Amino acid sequence: MKQLSCSKQEIKQITIPTPFAVGDVHTYLILTDKVTLVDAGVKTIEAFDIFKSQLKQYGLKLMDIDQVLVTHHHPDHVGLLDYLPDNIPVYGHKRAHPWMTQDMHYFSSHDSFYRELFTEMGVEERFYPVLNTVDKPLRFSCKRGLTAFVKEGDRLEGLENWRIIETPGHASSHLVLFDEKSGTLLGGDLILAHISPNPLIEPPFVGETERRKSMIDYVASIEKMRALPITTVRPGHGEEVGNVGKLLTERIEQQEKRARKVQTFVNGKAVTAFEICQHLFPKVYEKQLLLTLSETLGQIDYLLEKERIEVDASTVPYRYKSKEGL
Ligand SMILES: [Zn+2]
Repeated sequence: MKQLSCSKQEIKQITIPTPFAVGDVHTYLILTDKVTLVDAGVKTIEAFDIFKSQLKQYGLKLMDIDQVLVTHHHPDHVGLLDYLPDNIPVYGHKRAHPWMTQDMHYFSSHDSFYRELFTEMGVEERFYPVLNTVDKPLRFSCKRGLTAFVKEGDRLEGLENWRIIETPGHASSHLVLFDEKSGTLLGGDLILAHISPNPLIEPPFVGETERRKSMIDYVASIEKMRALPITTVRPGHGEEVGNVGKLLTERIEQQEKRARKVQTFVNGKAVTAFEICQHLFPKVYEKQLLLTLSETLGQIDYLLEKERIEVDASTVPYRYKSKEGL
């Protein structure tokens, strides 16, 4: 396999089960004169066994992998790195690094960040025990950092056609890999056929004081993708996406529709973020509190940015209402 000529390239998919609601995760091998693994799957014995056996079907062994690129730091995309040989270089965005190493210094500020956020959002006290579960998925993640950081416009050795593009939103560390020759995009969790990815809340990055506005980042990333001649998206989950332009337009429209729902709800009232969350997700907010709060905060950030609502942050919880004259 390693004798492939430079001009030839193949993409092989390895699908791995995860213990998460999202289901299976896809990782990809790009075979050129190098063997590049894009994403590494979750850290379970089952996942590792399946990964190895699928690798074998392609005539490859673990040691044949020359390099790994991670699209973002979530456990279903990086966990299995712990089981790969130590000498394989791993590349990704610098914002993925403290998550992947499970940096205690970085994590030590998370609890107070989420607690403060819950207070500002007006989350009922009975839900505060959820705060103890925030870091739970990390047991399926790795404790292995990046060998080197990559950024917008970078290219990896052996992948000269492939451009790295930063696409924050679902995760602040998110990036995609775009093949300028074929139009194929290895899209991580940015563009999924069946769902729009949740713009997850993340505590401020090391050395920063503000959290990223994930939804605003996400919309900008989708707009960035609309400007590219993408023919196919090979995603982190679910089906391959063919009609990319149509799906991207749908994603933007869906976002605007949900934002309008929030704007209508806050019209003439002064409501908390938690009340907006209950309104948006009456059936699931109790079971999926962190996900639904992330989505709600995303809508609030989006509407504030566009000056379509305003906030009274003079007392906690903060209260939101439509902007005068709208
Ligand atoms: Zn994922």
